[in-house]
Amino acid sequence: MSDKQQQVSGSLVIAEALVQLGIKHVFGIVGIPVIEVANALIARGIKFISFRNEQAAAYAASIYGYLTGLPGVCLVVGGPGVLHAIAGVGNASANHLPFLLLAGSSETHQVEKGAFQELDQVAYLAPHTKLSVRPASIEAIPTLLEKAYRTAYFGRPGPTYVDLPADFIQGSVAAATSAVRKIAPPGPAPRAAADPARIAQAVALLREAESPLLIIGKGAAYAQAEGAIRSFQETVQLPFLPTPMGKGVLPDDSPLNTSAARSAALKSADVILLLGARLNWILHYGEAPKFRPDVKIIQVDVAAEELGNNAGSAPLGIVGDINLVVAQLHDALVQLGSGTLGNGSGKLPAAIEAVKERNTQKARVVENNNVVPLKYQSVYRVIREVLARQPRKVVYVSEGANTMDISRSAFPLNEPRTRLDAGTNATMGVGLGYAIAAKAVDPASLVVAIEGDSAFGFSLAEVDTAVRHHLPIIFFVINNSGVYHGVDPARYENQEQNPLPATALALDTKYHLLGESFGALGYEVRDLQQLEAAVTDAVKKDQVAVINVIIESGKDKKLEFGWMASTKKAKL
Ligand code: ADP
Repeated sequence: MSDKQQQVSGSLVIAEALVQLGIKHVFGIVGIPVIEVANALIARGIKFISFRNEQAAAYAASIYGYLTGLPGVCLVVGGPGVLHAIAGVGNASANHLPFLLLAGSSETHQVEKGAFQELDQVAYLAPHTKLSVRPASIEAIPTLLEKAYRTAYFGRPGPTYVDLPADFIQGSVAAATSAVRKIAPPGPAPRAAADPARIAQAVALLREAESPLLIIGKGAAYAQAEGAIRSFQETVQLPFLPTPMGKGVLPDDSPLNTSAARSAALKSADVILLLGARLNWILHYGEAPKFRPDVKIIQVDVAAEELGNNAGSAPLGIVGDINLVVAQLHDALVQLGSGTLGNGSGKLPAAIEAVKERNTQKARVVENNNVVPLKYQSVYRVIREVLARQPRKVVYVSEGANTMDISRSAFPLNEPRTRLDAGTNATMGVGLGYAIAAKAVDPASLVVAIEGDSAFGFSLAEVDTAVRHHLPIIFFVINNSGVYHGVDPARYENQEQNPLPATALALDTKYHLLGESFGALGYEVRDLQQLEAAVTDAVKKDQVAVINVIIESGKDKKLEFGWMASTKKAKL
């Protein structure tokens, strides 16, 4: 063998390391100097899903991490590529999603010379990641990749970053050096059980509670704790409330689900067991008036620093993995001979049941209103009914303001990790990347993205990504010609006298034609018959589809999410 044959390129060293970590998909966009890396990945059997904008690629990789429990990987160019991908880093950091970003960077000897796409990416990303590093040599790449991958999901999940200088990618090392020595996948994240004293304290509180409530957040879904939580719930029969992405950990169709009586359930709870959710805006900080001022919150989280925040109680908090902590609580209750908690009936308290019934009836009336122009609720009823007729698991992605908010209660879920939305930061533009990742994770599922027209616009070119990579997804564009409630068409008639508000988008944009131009199926619908026909056809044809649903626009409503109203009333 000649010396040349015994050399391996830096790009191959990177690809080998990712293969050895067990990575199946990488999301990203290529350019100098990472094109060789992507080609090496493809040659080694990793699927490289190439996007149209690094933002969407980074969002896709981060939610891939949420869905699989292992970090999603994104590869981009340096400079502007990293700046775009930072949107995904920030989103992963805010949502605690495991995510490894890799980016090319200018050659190591060109630092501060104004090199091609030069940026101090390690420094840029350091405040927003759990680890942000540049390897010192090609040989150092595999172990650092392993460390960054592991760091992203061990402990509290979050983003990490590895910088890949062009001279390392294009350079080579002797095959016999440590650069190509085997690294092993770190395996499942280690899980910590709770302090038994905290378990005993929590069990005593739960047993004494008159009106206990279980709240399930997306941390429980991410932890894949549905087995432990379902088994616990079989014994304790607690009224429960999922957060938007905590839906499906316990089936929404359970009689103990209080979602339709959310405010009443929160207001009446004296003891709350909070599994994998922060007391942030989504849960009104745990504060009055939404919560009882004397409520006792037993928060279970993998991150000790989360316990005691806002109206949380630090002394009641439990650090540990939800799977293990819930099993500990369950065992302790069983040992004490406890069965059903709360009112002991295994049913919702009568007052909450009455509110649930009333609200469910009200929602039914609204969704059966078949007027044209269409309204969200009747649109969602028809989509729900058509999807229920097909056998596949459905994963719902939803983003937008009203589009997302109203969809939360319109699509009951019975499986975890089947609703992906704008999350902790209410990030608009995540939907297409999330849908693409969800389809890549589970090709047998039916992925639908229910997008507000404004939200869809952030990354609509990713329809091309779905088409190119043969990832059939149904994109619904809920089109009211604007942000929030859209804009009254009359406002377009004389814009000199009546200028368009900042919430306006172009009237009746032909999103279905944009979809068709990328090779997707396109449908424009204005009534429920057309909608039913379009959804039925798209499901049957199993191709990427863009269904442009023109709905009523222009109703002047308050600009806020349902959640926010009561928060503003809270005393600070
Ligand atoms: P939501 O948006 O549903 O309210 P959050 O994102 O606010 O949920 O909270 C999720 C929480 O779950 C985070 O604080 C995170 O630390 C926590 N978490 C993630 N994985 C685990 C786990 N395995 N065990 C316990 N807590 C976890």
